[in-house]
Amino acid sequence: MVEMDCLFCKIVAGQIPASIVKKTDLITAFNDITPQAPTHILIIPNKHYVNMAEVANSDLTLAGEIFKAAGDIAAELRLENYRTNINTGAGAGQSVFHAHLHLLGGRSFAWPPG
Ligand code: AMP
Ligand code: ZN
Repeated sequence: MVEMDCLFCKIVAGQIPASIVKKTDLITAFNDITPQAPTHILIIPNKHYVNMAEVANSDLTLAGEIFKAAGDIAAELRLENYRTNINTGAGAGQSVFHAHLHLLGGRSFAWPPG
């Protein structure tokens, strides 16, 4: 379902351009427009969900596909170390309310995160 006001639904539908890395029937992966690392890819369900918790509650297979895509892409890009990150809620930094997983790589990462 395309939510008319949703940026990421429009990317899935091809209505807004994006640098697509991988696309299947279930998920789309594309480069983040404001990369926070040399590799910064967003992996999203093609269907609209507000956050990853909603994906997992509704469709565990789809949630698994998103995590599998992250691992597959990291392997394809030969990322030695990488970070997968999910911001849920505005207070945690979520700014786009279509579920997505961040895949960041190509540099080292501090812990704990800010
Ligand atoms: P979050 O802050 O966790 O909701 O992540 C949303 C991400 O979407 C941010 O890292 C943004 O840089 C990224 N973003 C926003 N607009 C676009 C766009 N048109 N194409 C690619 N990435 C985008
Ligand atoms: Zn959407």
